[in-house]
Amino acid sequence: MKRQEGGFAESVREEKRRQYEAMGISGQVYTFGESVLEALQGRFAQIDAVAEYNQLKVLNAMQEARVSEACLSGTTGYGYNDLGRETLEQVYARVFHTEDALVRPQITCGTHALALALMSNLRPGDELLSPVGKPYDTLEEVIGIRPSRGSLREYGISYRQVDLLPDGGFDYPAIAQALGEKTRLVTIQRSKGYQTRPTLSVQQIGELIGFIRARRPDVICMVDNCYGEFVETLEPSDVGADLVVGSLIKNPGGGLAPIGGYLAGKKECIENAAFRLTSPGLGKEVGASLTALPSFYQGLFLAPSVTAGALKGAVFAANLYERLGFCVIPDAVQTRHDIIQAVRFENPDMMIAFCQGIQAAAPVDSFVRPMPADMPGYDSQVIMAAGAFVSGSSIELSADGPVKPPYAVYFQGGLTWQHAKFGILKTVQNLVEKGLVKGDFS
Ligand SMILES: *Cc1c(COP(=O)(O)O)cnc(C)c1O
Repeated sequence: MKRQEGGFAESVREEKRRQYEAMGISGQVYTFGESVLEALQGRFAQIDAVAEYNQLKVLNAMQEARVSEACLSGTTGYGYNDLGRETLEQVYARVFHTEDALVRPQITCGTHALALALMSNLRPGDELLSPVGKPYDTLEEVIGIRPSRGSLREYGISYRQVDLLPDGGFDYPAIAQALGEKTRLVTIQRSKGYQTRPTLSVQQIGELIGFIRARRPDVICMVDNCYGEFVETLEPSDVGADLVVGSLIKNPGGGLAPIGGYLAGKKECIENAAFRLTSPGLGKEVGASLTALPSFYQGLFLAPSVTAGALKGAVFAANLYERLGFCVIPDAVQTRHDIIQAVRFENPDMMIAFCQGIQAAAPVDSFVRPMPADMPGYDSQVIMAAGAFVSGSSIELSADGPVKPPYAVYFQGGLTWQHAKFGILKTVQNLVEKGLVKGDFS
């Protein structure tokens, strides 16, 4: 019996290797990948344990909110008394342990969700403070750091920023000084975004919020939670954040949500956002869910394990590229607080080859070759690889980065770990074939 099972495992391994070869992964690249993987089993077990915890957390929220079959059919028109929408918002509030939530297909993307949170909770004369350095590129125009029509700045809302220290830590003295009378809202970006600073852990965010609270108990502490959801057992709202905000075509949509954003937090903050999203007086009471609800529920249900698959891909890529001699952020052994993996290539050719490898591994548009292009909201050309079921979804296997020094590619996603693995091997194969990395792995 034992020998038979051994023989079966052996033959699956062999068929698997041949399938990789049939799909363009050389024996050498494949073997290199397997050798990197051997050392990662402990890390993967940890990732699975977090996913297991978060799966139960989501399931518990759905059960306690009494999700029923009726919640899955949407409304049209005004969307009054939309049971599915209201229950889903309660599910999100329970998952994030907040008083309320706003989860809507009318929120078009992460930037929109963040803009909504800021524009609805700030008033003319208020000041916004980022104590963690420059925010995500697209927010520069929302805030008015880069002049833009309709920015907070045009409405008389000022902005102040305190950069992180060179070691990535918080500059507490400068933050204390920047917390002025006008400061009304503090925005904390959890993920590194298009930067090479470290991503903040939930614990670090908690410490920062504690510091701010001790000085200014009245300011709103908001966290841009994009890419961070379900990576840890805690969320920023568990450590004092008044408001957490993110995109449904990233982690919490589980790959199934075709659009949407969420805000979870204090009742007053959510109400402000609802009055801004729809209209003063109407707030949360309108906003038909149309056909979005089944994918929102099912996507949230799958999100913990989808996030785990993406995380395994990020850890695998870090270890593989570090062995090839590249600077990777986070490095091979650092703990993870979001699903993003940056690889610094130092030149555009390698960056492009990497992205073309990711594209070639996609289930959709695998035959397309991505090239650098101008993008609204960004101040340099950007290259993006995504062959996704949901256009632009970055919980699906994707890679992108601004084509400017240090030529870092930001790699993320993978609806399954197996797909992420294949995509990463494909990038190495592409770099080898273009003669951009040497093929003699050791
Ligand atoms: C993706 C992202 C955003 C913006 O989300 P979009 O859906 O691309 O508009 C904002 N902040 C961070 C940290 C992000 O990763």
